[in-house]
Amino acid sequence: MKNIIDTIRNDFKHLNFVEDEIFFWSPKNQEVHFRKNPTSEADVWRLLHEIGHAVLDHKRYNLDINLLHLEIAAWEEAKRNSGRYGMIISEDHIQDCLDTYRDWLYKRSTCPDCLNTSLQNTSNSYNCFNCNNSWKVSASRTCRTYRKKQKASAIEAF
Ligand SMILES: [Zn+2]
Ligand SMILES: [Zn+2]
Repeated sequence: MKNIIDTIRNDFKHLNFVEDEIFFWSPKNQEVHFRKNPTSEADVWRLLHEIGHAVLDHKRYNLDINLLHLEIAAWEEAKRNSGRYGMIISEDHIQDCLDTYRDWLYKRSTCPDCLNTSLQNTSNSYNCFNCNNSWKVSASRTCRTYRKKQKASAIEAF
């Protein structure tokens, strides 16, 4: 597993890789963070996913729905690259990851008063077109594993 990580890093040597405990792409620092001791094939998939964000030059997003689109695009890119390493990224794994974003999006967009699914006004507020309630949401989201670590800071990574 370590070998394949090294091979991938070498194939994308124009990118900045930073050894870390978790995987994420930081558009601000232009860095791909990755777990230095991969434990499973899924870790290689995660690395390819973060490389996908990097190669596609994903920046910060304003609306929540855009994050979901970026996540999908990064997985598409990861799938394209996975063949070079004789890997097939599990579709279940991809859908599980995307589900965490879908769940998050659903929770944020559900009106706390009438449970109607609502529209996002700005990067940190939603408005219900059914009961006209509006509510604030935190600025943005980080990857599940990343969130714990960087709770306090605004999102610069996904
Ligand atoms: Zn991602
Ligand atoms: Zn409502």
